[in-house]
Amino acid sequence: MKFFPDKKYCILNGLRLPDHSTNTYFEIDSFIISPYFVLDVDAKNHKGELHFDHHFEQMHQTNGDVKKTYTCPLTQLHRHRLQLERLIETHKIAVPPIESLVVITNPSTSISTSDYHPGAKNIIRAPSLISKMEQYEKKHKKVVLDNKQLQRLVKLLKKIHTPLDTNILQTFGIQESDLVNGVFCPQCDVPPMKRSQGKWCCINCGHTSTNAHIKAVLDYFLLIDNKMTNKKLREFLLLPSRTVATKILLSMGLEKTGNKKGTTYTISLEKLMDMCKDH
Ligand SMILES: [Zn+2]
Repeated sequence: MKFFPDKKYCILNGLRLPDHSTNTYFEIDSFIISPYFVLDVDAKNHKGELHFDHHFEQMHQTNGDVKKTYTCPLTQLHRHRLQLERLIETHKIAVPPIESLVVITNPSTSISTSDYHPGAKNIIRAPSLISKMEQYEKKHKKVVLDNKQLQRLVKLLKKIHTPLDTNILQTFGIQESDLVNGVFCPQCDVPPMKRSQGKWCCINCGHTSTNAHIKAVLDYFLLIDNKMTNKKLREFLLLPSRTVATKILLSMGLEKTGNKKGTTYTISLEKLMDMCKDH
């Protein structure tokens, strides 16, 4: 989606929206809004072979010796369409045509479908997204959402978006004060490493590292909160220097709000997942 011109589309990622009729939530990986149509994208990163069975509305995954079966994502997208229509209608916004796609993001995954699968055209590989958008642009030429309505829809979706909040410490009955603070040594796993001259030094084995704090910061985001302040970071890393703490927070590309001592750094779920994969 990096290729999409920003001004042409509004893209919202990782939406979790309430469905009041069933008292549940539904999740949208990427929602692309244009004045002419909207597009609901379900991204699938499954490995191995994926087989879509239209008759039973199932998706089978074979990865080595492991076979798994899921509900066909197209079935879910069909339900999304009804949920979105109801949601947009309820808020007195014109309902644009709703397109939906299952996007297979892993280039080495092989895809097959049952002989008769009318929905197969809506299952694509990531690079085909651009030509699909061009097709939709040709198909939908009527402006349904004027600028004002489009802004209203975006504002509405952002407002009712409800991130999944699982408090893991609460689930396991652990207090924040029970956690062992400090940066753990990547070599011997003993905390706390000491910060000196731009490096973390292990007091146990003498190992040094320039980025051992990243894992600790990710632990904080995963265990405690997706928001962080300079003070919290210093407490959690047992780091005396405010300046170094600021440097660390800025280097991680977090979203910054407020100023001076009230500055809060927030990590998006997407970014957190990405960083966890790398560390
Ligand atoms: Zn060590």
